[in-house]
Amino acid sequence: MKKIAIVFTLVLGLAAGPAAGAAAKAKIAQEKQLVLDWLGRTETVEKFGKISDAIWEYAELGLQEFQSSKLLADTLEAAGFTVERGLAGMPTCFVASFGSGKPVIGLLGEFDALPMISQKGRVPKKDPVIEGAPGHGCGHNAMCTAAVAAAIAVKEAMVAHGIKGTIKVFGSPAEEIVASRPYMIRAGLFEGVDAVIDNHSSSGFGTDYGVGGNALFSTIFTFKGKTAHAAGAPWVGRSALDAVEIMDVATNYLREHLPLSQRMHYVILEGGEAPNVVPDKASVWYYVRSTDEGLEDMYRRVVDCAKAGALAAGVELASMRVVSAIHQRHANKAAAELFQKNIELVGMPAWSEEEQAFSKALQKELGAEEKGMPVKVDKLEAPSGMFVGGGSSDVGDVTLIAPTATIGFPGSVPGSIGHHWSAVACFYGSTTWKGLNAGAKAIAASAIDLLTKPEELAKLRKEFEEYSKIHPYKPFLPADATPPNDLNKELMDRYRAALEKALAEK
Ligand SMILES: [Zn+2]
Repeated sequence: MKKIAIVFTLVLGLAAGPAAGAAAKAKIAQEKQLVLDWLGRTETVEKFGKISDAIWEYAELGLQEFQSSKLLADTLEAAGFTVERGLAGMPTCFVASFGSGKPVIGLLGEFDALPMISQKGRVPKKDPVIEGAPGHGCGHNAMCTAAVAAAIAVKEAMVAHGIKGTIKVFGSPAEEIVASRPYMIRAGLFEGVDAVIDNHSSSGFGTDYGVGGNALFSTIFTFKGKTAHAAGAPWVGRSALDAVEIMDVATNYLREHLPLSQRMHYVILEGGEAPNVVPDKASVWYYVRSTDEGLEDMYRRVVDCAKAGALAAGVELASMRVVSAIHQRHANKAAAELFQKNIELVGMPAWSEEEQAFSKALQKELGAEEKGMPVKVDKLEAPSGMFVGGGSSDVGDVTLIAPTATIGFPGSVPGSIGHHWSAVACFYGSTTWKGLNAGAKAIAASAIDLLTKPEELAKLRKEFEEYSKIHPYKPFLPADATPPNDLNKELMDRYRAALEKALAEK
Protein backbone atom coordinates (compact mmCIF):
# COMPACT_ATOMS: atom_id res chain seq x y z
CA MET A 1 0.00 0.00 0.00
CA LYS A 2 2.77 2.39 0.92
CA LYS A 3 4.46 2.05 -2.47
CA ILE A 4 1.25 2.84 -4.33
CA ALA A 5 0.76 5.93 -2.19
CA ILE A 6 4.24 7.21 -3.01
CA VAL A 7 3.72 6.82 -6.76
CA PHE A 8 0.50 8.86 -6.62
CA THR A 9 2.11 11.84 -4.92
CA LEU A 10 4.69 12.44 -7.59
CA VAL A 11 2.16 14.85 -9.04
CA LEU A 12 1.17 17.42 -6.43
CA GLY A 13 -2.20 18.09 -8.01
CA LEU A 14 -3.15 14.46 -7.82
CA ALA A 15 -4.78 14.81 -4.42
CA ALA A 16 -7.58 12.29 -4.91
CA GLY A 17 -7.11 8.64 -4.00
CA PRO A 18 -7.92 5.54 -6.03
CA ALA A 19 -11.73 5.88 -5.66
CA ALA A 20 -11.76 8.81 -8.07
CA GLY A 21 -10.05 6.68 -10.72
CA ALA A 22 -11.31 5.71 -14.13
CA ALA A 23 -13.84 3.10 -12.99
CA ALA A 24 -15.66 5.51 -10.70
CA LYS A 25 -15.43 8.31 -13.26
CA ALA A 26 -17.97 6.78 -15.60
CA LYS A 27 -20.79 7.14 -13.08
CA ILE A 28 -20.11 10.73 -12.07
CA ALA A 29 -22.45 13.42 -13.38
CA GLN A 30 -20.67 15.90 -15.61
CA GLU A 31 -21.39 18.83 -13.25
CA LYS A 32 -19.69 16.97 -10.43
CA GLN A 33 -16.83 15.88 -12.66
CA LEU A 34 -16.24 19.51 -13.57
CA VAL A 35 -15.77 20.59 -9.91
CA LEU A 36 -13.47 17.62 -9.23
CA ASP A 37 -11.37 18.38 -12.31
CA TRP A 38 -11.23 22.12 -11.62
CA LEU A 39 -10.11 21.55 -8.04
CA GLY A 40 -7.68 18.82 -9.08
CA ARG A 41 -5.59 21.08 -11.30
CA THR A 42 -2.10 21.74 -9.95
CA GLU A 43 -2.59 25.52 -10.14
CA THR A 44 -5.79 25.28 -8.07
CA VAL A 45 -4.07 23.18 -5.39
CA GLU A 46 -1.23 25.70 -5.25
CA LYS A 47 -3.43 28.81 -5.31
CA PHE A 48 -5.54 27.76 -2.32
CA GLY A 49 -2.59 26.15 -0.55
CA LYS A 50 -0.85 29.52 -0.64
CA ILE A 51 -3.98 31.30 0.66
CA SER A 52 -4.12 28.83 3.56
CA ASP A 53 -0.43 29.38 4.31
CA ALA A 54 -0.86 33.17 4.17
CA ILE A 55 -3.70 33.03 6.72
CA TRP A 56 -1.55 30.71 8.87
CA GLU A 57 1.22 33.32 8.74
CA TYR A 58 -1.13 36.23 9.60
CA ALA A 59 -2.23 34.18 12.67
CA GLU A 60 -4.99 36.66 13.51
CA LEU A 61 -7.14 36.24 16.61
CA GLY A 62 -10.94 36.31 16.53
CA LEU A 63 -12.42 39.57 15.21
CA GLN A 64 -8.93 40.87 14.43
CA GLU A 65 -8.73 38.80 11.21
CA PHE A 66 -8.58 41.85 8.94
CA GLN A 67 -5.96 40.48 6.51
CA SER A 68 -7.35 36.93 6.49
CA SER A 69 -10.94 38.04 5.90
CA LYS A 70 -9.88 40.47 3.16
CA LEU A 71 -7.82 37.83 1.34
CA LEU A 72 -10.74 35.38 1.31
CA ALA A 73 -13.39 37.95 0.39
CA ASP A 74 -11.19 39.46 -2.35
CA THR A 75 -10.59 35.98 -3.81
CA LEU A 76 -14.35 35.39 -4.05
CA GLU A 77 -14.98 38.85 -5.47
CA ALA A 78 -12.31 38.34 -8.13
CA ALA A 79 -14.06 35.08 -9.08
CA GLY A 80 -17.35 36.89 -9.72
CA PHE A 81 -19.10 36.56 -6.35
CA THR A 82 -21.08 39.42 -4.82
CA VAL A 83 -19.43 40.07 -1.47
CA GLU A 84 -20.93 41.94 1.49
CA ARG A 85 -18.43 42.81 4.21
CA GLY A 86 -18.57 43.98 7.81
CA LEU A 87 -21.87 42.19 8.50
CA ALA A 88 -23.77 41.55 11.76
CA GLY A 89 -21.74 44.26 13.53
CA MET A 90 -18.42 42.46 12.91
CA PRO A 91 -15.85 44.13 10.60
CA THR A 92 -14.34 40.75 9.57
CA CYS A 93 -17.63 38.95 8.84
CA PHE A 94 -18.61 38.59 5.17
CA VAL A 95 -21.08 36.76 2.96
CA ALA A 96 -20.31 36.01 -0.69
CA SER A 97 -23.02 34.87 -3.12
CA PHE A 98 -23.19 33.60 -6.65
CA GLY A 99 -26.32 32.79 -8.64
CA SER A 100 -29.91 33.56 -7.77
CA GLY A 101 -33.05 31.98 -6.42
CA LYS A 102 -33.63 28.56 -4.88
CA PRO A 103 -32.13 26.36 -3.72
CA VAL A 104 -29.69 28.31 -1.56
CA ILE A 105 -26.72 26.26 -0.39
CA GLY A 106 -24.47 27.74 2.29
CA LEU A 107 -20.84 26.92 3.01
CA LEU A 108 -19.33 27.88 6.37
CA GLY A 109 -15.76 29.08 6.68
CA GLU A 110 -13.60 30.02 9.68
CA PHE A 111 -10.20 31.76 9.71
CA ASP A 112 -9.19 32.81 13.25
CA ALA A 113 -6.11 31.72 15.24
CA LEU A 114 -5.50 30.90 18.91
CA PRO A 115 -3.38 32.82 21.43
CA MET A 116 -0.03 31.66 22.90
CA ILE A 117 0.79 28.76 20.54
CA SER A 118 3.05 30.26 17.86
CA GLN A 119 5.13 27.56 16.12
CA LYS A 120 7.15 27.19 12.94
CA GLY A 121 5.39 25.25 10.19
CA ARG A 122 6.43 21.64 9.59
CA VAL A 123 9.07 21.67 12.33
CA PRO A 124 8.49 18.57 14.50
CA LYS A 125 9.57 20.08 17.81
CA LYS A 126 8.49 23.13 19.76
CA ASP A 127 9.98 26.18 18.04
CA PRO A 128 7.82 29.31 17.97
CA VAL A 129 7.89 31.90 15.18
CA ILE A 130 7.43 34.53 17.92
CA GLU A 131 7.36 33.37 21.55
CA GLY A 132 3.83 33.77 22.96
CA ALA A 133 2.27 34.95 19.70
CA PRO A 134 -0.94 33.46 18.25
CA GLY A 135 -0.88 30.42 15.97
CA HIS A 136 -3.25 28.28 13.91
CA GLY A 137 -3.64 25.29 16.24
CA CYS A 138 -7.08 24.27 14.97
CA GLY A 139 -6.47 24.52 11.22
CA HIS A 140 -8.90 27.38 10.65
CA ASN A 141 -6.45 28.79 8.10
CA ALA A 142 -7.41 25.91 5.79
CA MET A 143 -11.14 25.96 6.50
CA CYS A 144 -12.63 29.08 4.95
CA THR A 145 -9.99 28.52 2.27
CA ALA A 146 -11.52 25.09 1.48
CA ALA A 147 -15.01 26.64 1.40
CA VAL A 148 -13.85 29.41 -0.96
CA ALA A 149 -12.15 26.91 -3.29
CA ALA A 150 -15.28 24.73 -3.29
CA ALA A 151 -17.60 27.70 -3.92
CA ILE A 152 -15.58 28.90 -6.90
CA ALA A 153 -15.53 25.37 -8.35
CA VAL A 154 -19.32 25.18 -7.93
CA LYS A 155 -19.69 28.56 -9.63
CA GLU A 156 -17.67 27.23 -12.61
CA ALA A 157 -20.08 24.27 -12.89
CA MET A 158 -23.14 26.53 -12.48
CA VAL A 159 -21.98 28.67 -15.38
CA ALA A 160 -20.92 25.77 -17.60
CA HIS A 161 -24.08 23.71 -17.05
CA GLY A 162 -26.70 26.40 -16.39
CA ILE A 163 -27.36 25.14 -12.83
CA LYS A 164 -30.03 27.20 -11.06
CA GLY A 165 -29.83 28.36 -7.46
CA THR A 166 -27.42 30.22 -5.17
CA ILE A 167 -24.14 29.27 -3.58
CA LYS A 168 -23.09 31.31 -0.54
CA VAL A 169 -19.94 31.43 1.57
CA PHE A 170 -20.47 32.57 5.16
CA GLY A 171 -17.13 34.07 6.23
CA SER A 172 -17.41 33.43 9.96
CA PRO A 173 -14.91 35.17 12.25
CA ALA A 174 -13.94 34.32 15.80
CA GLU A 175 -14.96 30.64 16.00
CA GLU A 176 -12.31 30.09 18.67
CA ILE A 177 -14.31 32.39 20.93
CA VAL A 178 -17.56 30.98 19.46
CA ALA A 179 -18.58 34.52 18.74
CA SER A 180 -19.89 34.96 15.23
CA ARG A 181 -22.67 32.56 14.27
CA PRO A 182 -25.27 33.56 16.89
CA TYR A 183 -24.81 37.20 15.85
CA MET A 184 -24.94 36.29 12.14
CA ILE A 185 -28.19 34.39 12.69
CA ARG A 186 -29.63 37.27 14.73
CA ALA A 187 -28.79 39.63 11.84
CA GLY A 188 -30.80 37.40 9.48
CA LEU A 189 -27.82 36.40 7.30
CA PHE A 190 -28.95 32.77 7.07
CA GLU A 191 -32.54 33.55 6.09
CA GLY A 192 -33.64 31.53 3.08
CA VAL A 193 -30.69 29.10 3.26
CA ASP A 194 -31.89 25.57 2.46
CA ALA A 195 -28.87 23.56 3.62
CA VAL A 196 -25.42 24.22 5.03
CA ILE A 197 -22.12 22.42 4.44
CA ASP A 198 -19.70 23.03 7.29
CA ASN A 199 -16.07 21.89 7.34
CA HIS A 200 -13.25 21.42 9.83
CA SER A 201 -9.55 20.59 9.57
CA SER A 202 -8.70 17.20 10.96
CA SER A 203 -6.29 14.30 10.62
CA GLY A 204 -9.03 12.05 9.21
CA PHE A 205 -11.51 12.52 6.35
CA GLY A 206 -15.09 11.99 7.45
CA THR A 207 -18.37 13.35 8.76
CA ASP A 208 -20.88 12.61 11.51
CA TYR A 209 -24.42 13.29 12.66
CA GLY A 210 -26.46 13.59 15.82
CA VAL A 211 -25.91 15.72 18.90
CA GLY A 212 -22.30 16.60 19.69
CA GLY A 213 -20.13 19.02 21.63
CA ASN A 214 -21.24 21.31 24.39
CA ALA A 215 -23.46 24.36 24.61
CA LEU A 216 -21.62 27.29 26.15
CA PHE A 217 -21.93 30.65 27.90
CA SER A 218 -18.83 32.84 27.49
CA THR A 219 -19.09 35.61 30.08
CA ILE A 220 -16.77 38.21 31.61
CA PHE A 221 -17.57 39.00 35.25
CA THR A 222 -16.22 42.37 36.39
CA PHE A 223 -16.00 43.48 40.03
CA LYS A 224 -15.45 46.99 41.39
CA GLY A 225 -13.96 47.75 44.84
CA LYS A 226 -11.88 50.52 46.40
CA THR A 227 -8.11 51.15 46.24
CA ALA A 228 -6.04 51.73 49.37
CA HIS A 229 -2.45 51.43 50.55
CA ALA A 230 -2.21 47.67 50.90
CA ALA A 231 0.03 47.94 53.98
CA GLY A 232 -0.62 51.44 55.36
CA ALA A 233 -4.42 51.29 55.51
CA PRO A 234 -5.73 48.01 54.02
CA TRP A 235 -8.96 48.34 56.00
CA VAL A 236 -9.91 51.29 53.83
CA GLY A 237 -9.73 49.21 50.65
CA ARG A 238 -12.11 46.64 49.17
CA SER A 239 -10.36 44.19 46.85
CA ALA A 240 -12.10 43.35 43.60
CA LEU A 241 -9.55 40.55 43.17
CA ASP A 242 -10.83 38.97 46.40
CA ALA A 243 -14.25 38.69 44.77
CA VAL A 244 -12.74 36.93 41.73
CA GLU A 245 -10.85 34.50 43.92
CA ILE A 246 -13.87 33.73 46.10
CA MET A 247 -16.00 33.24 42.98
CA ASP A 248 -13.40 30.82 41.56
CA VAL A 249 -13.26 28.85 44.83
CA ALA A 250 -17.06 28.65 44.84
CA THR A 251 -17.28 27.43 41.24
CA ASN A 252 -14.60 24.82 41.90
CA TYR A 253 -16.77 23.47 44.74
CA LEU A 254 -19.79 23.64 42.42
CA ARG A 255 -18.11 21.25 39.95
CA GLU A 256 -18.64 18.34 42.34
CA HIS A 257 -22.40 18.70 42.01
CA LEU A 258 -22.77 19.15 38.26
CA PRO A 259 -23.66 16.50 35.66
CA LEU A 260 -20.81 14.75 33.81
CA SER A 261 -21.45 16.83 30.69
CA GLN A 262 -20.17 20.01 32.38
CA ARG A 263 -16.93 21.73 31.51
CA MET A 264 -15.97 24.98 33.21
CA HIS A 265 -12.80 27.04 32.90
CA TYR A 266 -11.68 30.59 33.40
CA VAL A 267 -8.83 33.05 33.02
CA ILE A 268 -8.35 36.18 35.11
CA LEU A 269 -8.25 39.15 32.75
CA GLU A 270 -7.63 41.87 35.33
CA GLY A 271 -6.39 41.32 38.87
CA GLY A 272 -4.72 44.57 39.90
CA GLU A 273 -1.44 46.14 38.87
CA ALA A 274 0.78 46.14 41.96
CA PRO A 275 0.66 44.28 45.29
CA ASN A 276 0.86 47.50 47.30
CA VAL A 277 -2.37 48.94 45.86
CA VAL A 278 -5.60 47.15 46.77
CA PRO A 279 -7.11 46.36 43.33
CA ASP A 280 -10.35 48.25 42.78
CA LYS A 281 -11.08 46.44 39.52
CA ALA A 282 -10.83 42.76 38.63
CA SER A 283 -12.43 40.61 36.00
CA VAL A 284 -12.61 36.93 35.18
CA TRP A 285 -13.64 35.32 31.88
CA TYR A 286 -15.58 32.08 32.16
CA TYR A 287 -16.57 29.38 29.69
CA VAL A 288 -19.53 27.52 31.20
CA ARG A 289 -20.37 24.40 29.16
CA SER A 290 -23.02 21.71 29.30
CA THR A 291 -25.78 20.16 27.20
CA ASP A 292 -28.49 22.38 25.70
CA GLU A 293 -30.81 21.10 28.44
CA GLY A 294 -28.38 21.62 31.31
CA LEU A 295 -26.68 24.86 30.34
CA GLU A 296 -28.97 27.57 31.70
CA ASP A 297 -29.32 25.99 35.13
CA MET A 298 -25.54 25.55 35.41
CA TYR A 299 -24.99 29.14 34.30
CA ARG A 300 -27.43 30.47 36.93
CA ARG A 301 -25.41 28.68 39.61
CA VAL A 302 -22.15 30.20 38.31
CA VAL A 303 -23.79 33.65 38.44
CA ASP A 304 -24.69 32.89 42.08
CA CYS A 305 -20.99 32.16 42.74
CA ALA A 306 -20.13 35.59 41.28
CA LYS A 307 -22.71 37.26 43.53
CA ALA A 308 -21.31 35.35 46.51
CA GLY A 309 -17.79 36.60 45.68
CA ALA A 310 -18.99 40.19 45.54
CA LEU A 311 -20.93 39.88 48.79
CA ALA A 312 -18.04 38.30 50.68
CA ALA A 313 -15.47 40.82 49.44
CA GLY A 314 -17.77 43.77 49.99
CA VAL A 315 -17.46 44.89 46.38
CA GLU A 316 -19.85 45.40 43.52
CA LEU A 317 -20.47 42.86 40.74
CA ALA A 318 -20.28 45.69 38.21
CA SER A 319 -21.07 43.75 35.03
CA MET A 320 -21.65 40.31 33.54
CA ARG A 321 -20.84 40.68 29.86
CA VAL A 322 -22.05 37.74 27.80
CA VAL A 323 -19.50 37.57 24.97
CA SER A 324 -21.36 34.73 23.30
CA ALA A 325 -23.74 31.89 24.08
CA ILE A 326 -24.26 28.89 21.84
CA HIS A 327 -26.00 25.55 21.39
CA GLN A 328 -24.66 22.04 20.96
CA ARG A 329 -24.28 20.75 17.39
CA HIS A 330 -27.29 18.88 16.02
CA ALA A 331 -25.92 17.52 12.76
CA ASN A 332 -28.34 16.29 10.10
CA LYS A 333 -28.16 12.57 9.29
CA ALA A 334 -29.31 12.87 5.67
CA ALA A 335 -26.67 15.56 5.10
CA ALA A 336 -23.94 13.39 6.64
CA GLU A 337 -24.98 10.41 4.47
CA LEU A 338 -24.77 12.53 1.34
CA PHE A 339 -21.42 14.05 2.34
CA GLN A 340 -20.02 10.60 3.17
CA LYS A 341 -20.64 9.39 -0.40
CA ASN A 342 -18.66 12.31 -1.75
CA ILE A 343 -15.87 11.83 0.81
CA GLU A 344 -15.58 8.21 -0.38
CA LEU A 345 -15.63 9.36 -4.00
CA VAL A 346 -12.75 11.79 -3.39
CA GLY A 347 -10.73 9.42 -1.21
CA MET A 348 -7.82 10.03 1.12
CA PRO A 349 -4.99 12.03 -0.44
CA ALA A 350 -1.80 10.08 -1.07
CA TRP A 351 1.11 11.26 1.07
CA SER A 352 4.71 11.63 -0.04
CA GLU A 353 7.72 10.09 1.67
CA GLU A 354 8.70 13.50 3.05
CA GLU A 355 5.18 13.94 4.49
CA GLN A 356 5.31 10.51 6.12
CA ALA A 357 8.75 11.28 7.54
CA PHE A 358 7.55 14.58 9.07
CA SER A 359 4.46 12.87 10.41
CA LYS A 360 6.47 10.09 12.12
CA ALA A 361 9.03 12.55 13.51
CA LEU A 362 6.24 14.58 15.09
CA GLN A 363 4.55 11.44 16.44
CA LYS A 364 7.88 10.37 17.97
CA GLU A 365 8.39 13.80 19.58
CA LEU A 366 4.87 13.60 21.11
CA GLY A 367 5.25 10.00 22.29
CA ALA A 368 2.38 8.97 20.00
CA GLU A 369 2.23 5.83 17.88
CA GLU A 370 4.57 6.32 14.86
CA LYS A 371 2.03 5.29 12.24
CA GLY A 372 2.38 8.19 9.81
CA MET A 373 -0.53 9.73 7.89
CA PRO A 374 -3.89 7.95 7.47
CA VAL A 375 -4.55 5.85 4.35
CA LYS A 376 -8.33 5.47 4.41
CA VAL A 377 -11.30 7.78 4.84
CA ASP A 378 -13.40 7.32 7.99
CA LYS A 379 -16.59 5.26 8.02
CA LEU A 380 -19.86 7.02 8.85
CA GLU A 381 -20.90 5.64 12.21
CA ALA A 382 -24.12 6.02 14.16
CA PRO A 383 -23.77 8.24 17.25
CA SER A 384 -22.92 6.17 20.32
CA GLY A 385 -25.67 7.80 22.38
CA MET A 386 -23.07 8.41 25.11
CA PHE A 387 -22.32 12.01 25.92
CA VAL A 388 -18.83 12.76 24.66
CA GLY A 389 -19.03 16.47 25.39
CA GLY A 390 -15.78 18.33 25.27
CA GLY A 391 -15.42 21.39 23.09
CA SER A 392 -17.98 23.63 21.50
CA SER A 393 -18.56 25.32 18.17
CA ASP A 394 -20.91 28.12 17.24
CA VAL A 395 -21.84 25.98 14.22
CA GLY A 396 -24.26 24.55 16.81
CA ASP A 397 -26.67 27.45 16.33
CA VAL A 398 -26.53 27.05 12.53
CA THR A 399 -27.50 23.36 12.82
CA LEU A 400 -30.75 24.51 14.45
CA ILE A 401 -31.73 26.95 11.70
CA ALA A 402 -30.83 24.86 8.61
CA PRO A 403 -29.91 21.21 7.96
CA THR A 404 -26.14 21.11 8.50
CA ALA A 405 -23.31 18.61 8.81
CA THR A 406 -19.53 19.01 8.94
CA ILE A 407 -16.96 17.55 6.55
CA GLY A 408 -13.73 16.91 8.46
CA PHE A 409 -10.80 16.96 6.05
CA PRO A 410 -7.24 15.69 6.56
CA GLY A 411 -3.91 17.45 6.71
CA SER A 412 -2.95 17.24 10.34
CA VAL A 413 -0.80 14.43 11.74
CA PRO A 414 -2.67 11.76 13.77
CA GLY A 415 -1.52 12.15 17.38
CA SER A 416 -0.87 15.89 17.10
CA ILE A 417 -2.65 17.84 19.82
CA GLY A 418 -5.34 20.45 19.12
CA HIS A 419 -4.72 23.99 20.40
CA HIS A 420 -1.03 23.06 20.88
CA TRP A 421 2.21 23.86 18.99
CA SER A 422 2.16 20.40 17.35
CA ALA A 423 -1.10 21.19 15.55
CA VAL A 424 0.25 24.58 14.43
CA ALA A 425 3.26 22.76 12.92
CA CYS A 426 0.92 20.55 10.83
CA PHE A 427 -1.47 23.14 9.44
CA TYR A 428 1.17 24.73 7.19
CA GLY A 429 2.42 23.44 3.87
CA SER A 430 1.95 20.32 1.83
CA THR A 431 -0.25 17.96 3.89
CA THR A 432 -2.64 20.81 4.59
CA TRP A 433 -2.61 21.85 0.91
CA LYS A 434 -3.67 18.35 -0.11
CA GLY A 435 -6.10 17.93 2.75
CA LEU A 436 -7.95 21.17 2.14
CA ASN A 437 -8.09 20.36 -1.56
CA ALA A 438 -9.67 16.97 -0.82
CA GLY A 439 -12.06 18.72 1.59
CA ALA A 440 -12.97 21.31 -1.06
CA LYS A 441 -13.75 18.49 -3.52
CA ALA A 442 -16.10 16.77 -1.08
CA ILE A 443 -17.77 20.11 -0.23
CA ALA A 444 -18.17 21.11 -3.89
CA ALA A 445 -19.44 17.66 -4.94
CA SER A 446 -22.00 17.76 -2.10
CA ALA A 447 -23.10 21.27 -3.07
CA ILE A 448 -23.58 20.08 -6.67
CA ASP A 449 -25.77 17.21 -5.40
CA LEU A 450 -27.88 19.61 -3.34
CA LEU A 451 -28.23 22.09 -6.22
CA THR A 452 -29.06 19.52 -8.90
CA LYS A 453 -30.96 16.75 -7.08
CA PRO A 454 -34.12 18.12 -5.45
CA GLU A 455 -34.88 14.67 -3.99
CA GLU A 456 -31.58 14.73 -2.02
CA LEU A 457 -32.22 18.22 -0.65
CA ALA A 458 -35.77 17.16 0.25
CA LYS A 459 -34.39 14.38 2.50
CA LEU A 460 -32.31 16.88 4.48
CA ARG A 461 -35.19 19.34 4.71
CA LYS A 462 -37.74 16.74 5.85
CA GLU A 463 -35.48 15.49 8.65
CA PHE A 464 -34.73 19.08 9.66
CA GLU A 465 -38.40 20.19 9.76
CA GLU A 466 -39.27 17.22 11.97
CA TYR A 467 -36.32 17.81 14.29
CA SER A 468 -37.20 21.51 14.57
CA LYS A 469 -40.55 20.57 16.08
CA ILE A 470 -38.90 18.83 19.03
CA HIS A 471 -35.88 21.14 19.25
CA PRO A 472 -36.86 24.59 17.96
CA TYR A 473 -34.16 27.29 17.87
CA LYS A 474 -34.23 29.59 20.85
CA PRO A 475 -30.94 31.48 21.07
CA PHE A 476 -29.00 31.39 24.34
CA LEU A 477 -27.44 34.69 23.27
CA PRO A 478 -29.08 37.52 25.25
CA ALA A 479 -30.84 40.09 23.07
CA ASP A 480 -28.61 42.90 24.32
CA ALA A 481 -25.28 41.11 23.70
CA THR A 482 -22.95 42.78 21.18
CA PRO A 483 -20.09 41.20 19.17
CA PRO A 484 -16.81 41.36 21.14
CA ASN A 485 -14.89 43.28 18.47
CA ASP A 486 -12.53 44.70 21.10
CA LEU A 487 -11.79 41.52 23.06
CA ASN A 488 -8.63 40.41 21.24
CA LYS A 489 -7.48 43.80 20.00
CA GLU A 490 -4.80 44.55 22.58
CA LEU A 491 -3.40 41.02 22.42
CA MET A 492 -3.26 41.02 18.61
CA ASP A 493 -1.74 44.51 18.48
CA ARG A 494 1.03 43.26 20.77
CA TYR A 495 2.16 40.63 18.22
CA ARG A 496 1.04 41.83 14.79
CA ALA A 497 4.14 43.88 13.97
CA ALA A 498 6.52 41.12 15.18
CA LEU A 499 4.69 38.50 13.10
CA GLU A 500 4.83 40.74 10.03
CA LYS A 501 8.56 41.35 10.60
CA ALA A 502 9.24 37.60 10.93
CA LEU A 503 7.35 37.02 7.68
CA ALA A 504 9.25 39.75 5.83
CA GLU A 505 12.58 38.26 6.97
CA LYS A 506 11.62 34.75 5.90
ZN1 LIG B 1 -11.65 24.65 15.32
